[in-house]
Amino acid sequence: MASNAAADHDKLSGKRVAVVGAGVSGLAAAYKLKSKGVNVTVFEADGRVGGKLRSVIRNGLIWDEGANTMTEAEPEVGSLLDDLGLREKQQFPLSQKKRYIVRNGLPVMIPTNPIALVTSSVLSTQSKFQILLEPFLWKKNDSSSKVTDSFVVESVSGFFQRHFGEEVVDYLIDPFVGGTSAADPESLSMKHSFPDLWNIEKSFGSIIVGAIRTKFAAKGSKNGETKRSTGTKKGSRGSFSFKGGMQILPEMLCKDLSRDELNLDSKVLSLSYNAGPRQENWSLSCVSHNEAQGQNLHYDAVIMTAPLCNVKEMKVMKGGEPFKLNFLPEIKYMPLSVIITTFTKEKVKRPLEGFGVLIPTKEQKHGFKTLGTLFSSMMFPDRCPSDLHLYTTFIGGSRNQELAKASTDELKQVATSDLQRLLGVEGEPVFVNHVYWNKAFPLYDRSYDSVMEAIDKMEKDLPGFFYAGNHRGGLSVGKSIASGCKAADLVISYLESCSNDKKSEDSL
Ligand SMILES: Cc1cc2nc3c(=O)[nH]c(=O)nc-3n(C[C@H](O)[C@H](O)[C@H](O)COP(=O)(O)OP(=O)(O)OC[C@H]3O[C@@H](n4cnc5c(N)ncnc54)[C@H](O)[C@@H]3O)c2cc1C
Repeated sequence: MASNAAADHDKLSGKRVAVVGAGVSGLAAAYKLKSKGVNVTVFEADGRVGGKLRSVIRNGLIWDEGANTMTEAEPEVGSLLDDLGLREKQQFPLSQKKRYIVRNGLPVMIPTNPIALVTSSVLSTQSKFQILLEPFLWKKNDSSSKVTDSFVVESVSGFFQRHFGEEVVDYLIDPFVGGTSAADPESLSMKHSFPDLWNIEKSFGSIIVGAIRTKFAAKGSKNGETKRSTGTKKGSRGSFSFKGGMQILPEMLCKDLSRDELNLDSKVLSLSYNAGPRQENWSLSCVSHNEAQGQNLHYDAVIMTAPLCNVKEMKVMKGGEPFKLNFLPEIKYMPLSVIITTFTKEKVKRPLEGFGVLIPTKEQKHGFKTLGTLFSSMMFPDRCPSDLHLYTTFIGGSRNQELAKASTDELKQVATSDLQRLLGVEGEPVFVNHVYWNKAFPLYDRSYDSVMEAIDKMEKDLPGFFYAGNHRGGLSVGKSIASGCKAADLVISYLESCSNDKKSEDSL
């Protein structure tokens, strides 16, 4: 085995791969390629690594302006945390199971098991019965047999309504998708947003039956593994961050990249592919510190992780001819403002322990305007001095696109007003920080099949070009990492197949 790995390492050691984008997907790909002996060069338009992961440590406060937590549901994440030595920096939220939804103007704890569901006031008795009886009551998707147009894909709202009814969509699904993708259940495609549940329905019909059977099957195989390996169930501990915030993850991913391997402030403008007998068929140009860098950078393959709206702006050439990217559809992006506030503890009259609170669209009738708030210092007490509470509030998304762009002053008022209703905060925050992401999340809408087809076409028509990141296969940090790792694996197979082809040519 060891000599096989060494042989693979040797086979790949002369190969050169360009990675565009130093978000988690690009850095995970670069990390994996470098560990296999590939020569990697990362190009990042920004002056820092991390993309949508950005932590700030200032004046005794620690906050995240992008992703706040992640999970280990994808196996690629666990392997990376082990390899990077990040286990000791992992930080699990206190009372992570205590999560709240607003109902009738008040925060109500989300039930986490069937008994809690029965006693909870988050749903009416009718909806509780509908959930418990879903195996018998769920309805088939009538339209799927009739509809032949592949662009008409079922919405998240339609899917959950067939299984659990309208109230579940309004009070559980709507706040959940608002909090995780800044979108609304009517716009989102079920197939792309919840592929696991979409497949469960295909196999089992009922979501409840499918989920239970899948869980038992997974438990069975885990028990088997445990008997063999005595490993711990690291993935089952839920959401987590790191001491000092999420930023440490991208920083650790690129810590072994030299200055030549990691090019910050380097926006890729064009890519060119020229097939030929030699390798290094790719060249690219970028603008670095306002100076154009030439086309003399040559690579065997390219992993592109820039958002597709940025890819669309790039000039691509193939065999000396323009390769037009006009087949890439326009993607909608959700705008979002993140407001960090701190309040002295005595000014928060009804603090809640736990992870945070999500606000259903329907609750806007009670005057709420935010999507929800993370109780950041309740989760991680080291995020601020012990006499303060630190909150992270999200405003905008598809629900309130205009408000997302409002001024810091206006958004401070909006956040404070919602926190006043939810937690009884009094007066003004001690500290406010505002970040506006004009393209926080790509919208996996009901025509997203056409985006996936366009990505496939780019990869098919451009040999050695691979696309990864949160526009493909999921928005979460974990899914973006997995996407980067998968692209790295595909590049490795591609480079090996190129070497084998060359060897057979040379031997002729
Ligand atoms: C406010 C917010 C909160 C979030 N919260 C969570 C959360 O709690 N948990 C969770 O799991 N996920 C969360 N997410 C989602 C998650 O953070 C992202 O989906 C994920 O980090 C995306 O990683 P990526 O590498 O695919 O893309 P990005 O992070 O977008 O990285 C792409 C990189 O490409 C660079 N780039 C663009 N164009 C070029 C070019 N021409 N040349 C060179 N470089 C270029 C960009 O500068 C960027 O650094 C959140 C996202 C946001 C915005």
